[in-house]
Amino acid sequence: EAKDRGRSGYVVFDAALRGALEERQQTEADLRMAIDGGQLRLLYQPVVDVRSGKMTGVEALVRWEHPTRGLLGPDAFIAVAEDTGLIVDVGRWVLHEACRQLADWRAIPGASLTMAVNVSARQLCDPGFPGVVTAILAETEVDPDAVCLELTETALLDATEATIATLEALHRLGVRLALDDFGTGFSSLTFLKRFPIDVVKVDRSFVRDVAADPDDAAIVAAVAKLGRSLHLETVAEGVETAEQLAVIRRLGCRSFQGYLFSPPRPAADIPALLPSPRRSRERTEAPVITAS
Ligand code: C2E
Ligand code: MG
Ligand code: MG
Ligand code: MG
Repeated sequence: EAKDRGRSGYVVFDAALRGALEERQQTEADLRMAIDGGQLRLLYQPVVDVRSGKMTGVEALVRWEHPTRGLLGPDAFIAVAEDTGLIVDVGRWVLHEACRQLADWRAIPGASLTMAVNVSARQLCDPGFPGVVTAILAETEVDPDAVCLELTETALLDATEATIATLEALHRLGVRLALDDFGTGFSSLTFLKRFPIDVVKVDRSFVRDVAADPDDAAIVAAVAKLGRSLHLETVAEGVETAEQLAVIRRLGCRSFQGYLFSPPRPAADIPALLPSPRRSRERTEAPVITAS
C-alpha cells in the first residue's frame, strides 16, 4: 500500500516537474518574442518628498502584456529572464524606454523628475553595461544625475572586482545608485562603505508595522540616521497609510513610495500628479498625501 502511494506520488511529482519545466521553456520562448514584439510595458510609481508631499521622481516597474496570460508582473518572468540571460535585453529595453519617457517629462516646464530603474545582478556582471547606459543617456539626452539605478543587496553579494569596476564606471557617468530592499539581504553596512551608493530604500517589510512594532521603528530610525551621516537619501517603500507616513517622517526618512500616494501607473497618468507651481505655494505646511 505504502509502495503504491510512493509510486503514484512519484508519478505526480514527475508530471508536475515536467509541467513546470515546460512552462519555463514556454515562458523563455515567449519572452524572447515579447522583447522584440513590443509586449513589455512600464508602469511608473511616484517617489514623494516626505516633507513637501510632492512627487520628485518615479520608479519604472516592468510589466508584460502577454497575449494569452494577460498582464504579468515581474514575479512571473524576471527570474526566468535572469536564468536565461534574457534579462540583459529586458533590462536594456526598460532603461531605454524609461529614459525616453523621462526626457518627455523633463520637457514639461517646471518638472524635473528623477527616474529610478531596477537593475539585475546579471546586467551588472555584463562588462558592456556601462557602455549601454552611456549610449542610452546620449541618445535620449537625459541628464545622468536624473537617473538612479536600483540594485539589491543580493546582486552585490558576490560582486567581483569587475562588478565593482562597473559600479564605479556608472558612478563616474553621473548616474545615481540605490540599494533596493535594504535590510532584507546581508552585509548591508559593508556595501555602503564598499560601493558608491547614493540612495537607500528601506524595504517595505520594515515599513508595514513601523507604527506598531518598536523593533521595526528602531530599524527604520537607524537606517534614516545612517543615511544622514553618510549623506545618503533614504526612501521608505510600501507606505500605505497616513500613520506609516507620519512615523517614517518623524524617524527622518527623506522620501517615500507607496499606495498611499499612488500605485504604479501608466505613463499617461503621471503629468497630472506633478505639483503645479501655484498649488505648491499654497501648500507650505500640510503635505499633499493622496494623489488619486
Ligand atoms: P521593487 O523594486 O522593490 O519595487 C517595489 C514593488 O513594491 C513593486 O512591485 C511595487 O508595485 C510594489 N509596491 C509599491 N508600493 C507598494 C505598497 O504601498 N504596498 C505594497 N504591498 N506594494 C507596493 P512590482 O512592480 O511587482 O515589482 C516587484 C519587483 O520586481 C521590484 O521590486 C523589482 O525588484 C523587480 N522589478 C520590477 N521591474 C523590474 C525591471 O525592470 N528590472 C528588474 N531587474 N527587476 C524589476
Ligand atoms: Mg526598485
Ligand atoms: Mg524595493
Ligand atoms: Mg521590494
